[in-house]
Amino acid sequence: MTTGLDRGRIAAFRERLERRQQIVHEEIRRALAESDQQHHVDLAGVGDLEDHALADLLVDESLADIHQHVQEYRAIDAALMRMEGGHYGVCVDCGGDIDPERLEVYPTAVRCFDCQSLYERMHPATSPHSI
Ligand SMILES: [Zn+2]
Repeated sequence: MTTGLDRGRIAAFRERLERRQQIVHEEIRRALAESDQQHHVDLAGVGDLEDHALADLLVDESLADIHQHVQEYRAIDAALMRMEGGHYGVCVDCGGDIDPERLEVYPTAVRCFDCQSLYERMHPATSPHSI
């Protein structure tokens, strides 16, 4: 199985994703700190979003900002896991390579351009950022 990406390029994507994930993590913490006190009390003591149960909890929040950050955090997490599994850059729908240029724009992309276009036609509410 080839991903069309050499190890050096994957390492560069990984670095980029990990950096971005840290920023998103900070944004979530900040948004939580600024959100109302009840959330603050519930969540302030939880220091680390490695805990996926917390991410689940946050997804239930109606706070749009946080929701969006958590979505991105999870998308990055999923991309890093695909790297671990050796199938980063492989389309989940057709199994083909995702164009590296597309990954440059959307490093968390799970579909090739054709499958994503099809997916968005079938799921119009899904933005390209939330994949
Ligand atoms: Zn595809």
